[in-house]
Amino acid sequence: MKLRVAVGGLSHETNQYSSTSTEFDDFEIVTGRAVFERHAGRTYVGGMVAAASEAGAEVVGTLHAEALPAGTIARTAYQRLKQALLESLGAVLPVDGVLLDLHGAAAAEGVDDVEGDICRAVRDLIGPAVPLVVTHDLHGNISQAEADVVDAMFGVHHYPHDDMFERGQEAMRAVSLIARGRWRPYVHVERLPLLVPQTTTYEGIGAKAREICQRFEEQDGILDCTFMHGFPYADHAFVGAQVVTIADNSDNELARRVARDAARLIWALRDEFTVDYPNPDEALRLAEAGRQWPVVVNEVSDNPGGGAPGDGTHLLRALLAARPENAVFVGIKDPDVVRQAIEAGVGATIDIRLGGKTDTLHGAPIECRAYVKLLSDGEVVLEAPMGRGWRYPLGRSARLVIDGVDVVVISRAMQTLDRTPLLLHGIDAARCNLIALKSAHHFRSGFGEVAKAVVSTDPPGLSTMRLDTFPRSRTPRPVYPLDAHTTYGD
Ligand SMILES: [Zn+2]
Repeated sequence: MKLRVAVGGLSHETNQYSSTSTEFDDFEIVTGRAVFERHAGRTYVGGMVAAASEAGAEVVGTLHAEALPAGTIARTAYQRLKQALLESLGAVLPVDGVLLDLHGAAAAEGVDDVEGDICRAVRDLIGPAVPLVVTHDLHGNISQAEADVVDAMFGVHHYPHDDMFERGQEAMRAVSLIARGRWRPYVHVERLPLLVPQTTTYEGIGAKAREICQRFEEQDGILDCTFMHGFPYADHAFVGAQVVTIADNSDNELARRVARDAARLIWALRDEFTVDYPNPDEALRLAEAGRQWPVVVNEVSDNPGGGAPGDGTHLLRALLAARPENAVFVGIKDPDVVRQAIEAGVGATIDIRLGGKTDTLHGAPIECRAYVKLLSDGEVVLEAPMGRGWRYPLGRSARLVIDGVDVVVISRAMQTLDRTPLLLHGIDAARCNLIALKSAHHFRSGFGEVAKAVVSTDPPGLSTMRLDTFPRSRTPRPVYPLDAHTTYGD
């Protein structure tokens, strides 16, 4: 029997400390077949589609809405999005299963648990018998309330998230197995009293935590075991890291036990999540001293991928002061400066105030003179293992030369994931000495082969690793590392 499976999604990573609210028009909405066209590539939706025929399913596009990570979603915007998603799903019923690409860390005004709220509404619409399976970013803050209304959820295991495609495939297989009565999953969310700063799974504690869960996933009766890092730039009742397990045969006891066993092992290693990165001046000094070219210097605290504005000037200011040889900065968001460069034209020299326009936390604008080297439409398609083939629009862009340093200015708040923004502007990453960029870890997916060294820097910013800089009134206390005496599982 061929199954009809509806596919949709709502993806937003909400930084509740951001001063920029996310409005309806900030979402890129696609419907019907366009869901599959827009999200083709190594994405969650790409994986769902790729696994469909093997799973004996045909996919039906509903609605997919995605906005760049930023502040809380406005109340009316969220209600409109939710309504639109439900209506487009309602229009294709009956179906044999529903797949949703949900980030996991979306929050709207008055709704901390957007994913739980959406899944509850979808469940009410489709009834108890139709399987509902969702995918998540590992930066989701997942609630048991959501787990109780979905049949299964699959979070990425990797950061950089180069396994979105595989998780999408897994979700498609799961929806088919559940619809055919061969899986009877129970999902348990075990929350740890732990806030995890942005931590790659390529090495160190991130890799260890991933391996712990992988071992439990191999146990009989366990369908999935995932360490969700959570998204610490939120302040509500279920913020923090979680272990999510899925047990077959509705075995809630097994799911609980395995989640707690895995969580305890990760908890024992908790101090390894703590990092202390240098300020930009020191980071640039270390990068120069290492003499391993190219070296990537990444500004973790103004990571647009974590809801920071992407127009911060702390690292760029230090770079322009140090003026190392053969250096490039890619990219800083400033649509006004891009417009100014376009109006002046290639070959012109312009006086600009660059960046620092969203708030004061990320540094003041840089007043300087710039040469307009090259202009572009900012359209790239990712080449990195993470998201390969996915369209990644930077907005209209300009390559400026400031005091001998190449600076790529973009119009949208996009972190630099791979070399394509450099290529687009005529720069060969392999021939640079120093590549400065804004990203916490995703760049490792695209620069892994080219970068001979990485030096991270953490000036003030909305995605800093210094989690004690954020005020908290609703986060359950105690929580590690803010409260050193926090206990778990004894
Ligand atoms: Zn993420």
